[in-house]
Amino acid sequence: MKRETVLKHEFVEYIPNHLKEGTIYISVTFGTVVHKCCCGCGNEVITPLSPTDWKVTFDGESISLYPSIGNWNFDCKSHYWIKNSRVEWDKKRSGKEINSGRHQDYLYKSKYYGKNSLSPDKDITANDRASKSDKLEAKNNFWSRLRSWWC
Ligand SMILES: [Zn+2]
Repeated sequence: MKRETVLKHEFVEYIPNHLKEGTIYISVTFGTVVHKCCCGCGNEVITPLSPTDWKVTFDGESISLYPSIGNWNFDCKSHYWIKNSRVEWDKKRSGKEINSGRHQDYLYKSKYYGKNSLSPDKDITANDRASKSDKLEAKNNFWSRLRSWWC
């Protein structure tokens, strides 16, 4: 896998189906910027442009994207900035920090939603029970069908 350091850019109306490595595609029409993850993993990074999402600047020669690109959902977990068509890699952020950040987020959410959430032991309703046994039945049907194909 090759880490990109310099990106080319293309202004397009529609984002092409096959993205070239090391190229950043800007669709002003759809307010979207797409590029392949700069680590070389091949994942496509879609950054919507809006006042609350990403902003792209074009100085006539090069492209900058703000804020940074944090691909936490990809295996590579890469984090970088695109400034003047150059990729600036974040060297400081380790996997441990990412996990603790996620944990914080989880804690915050469970604190926030905790009050209203139902306890699964006490508040289970008849409907819940029914839908659970439906699912089980569907699963059993699936296996028996599979078995009948084999026999
Ligand atoms: Zn990657």
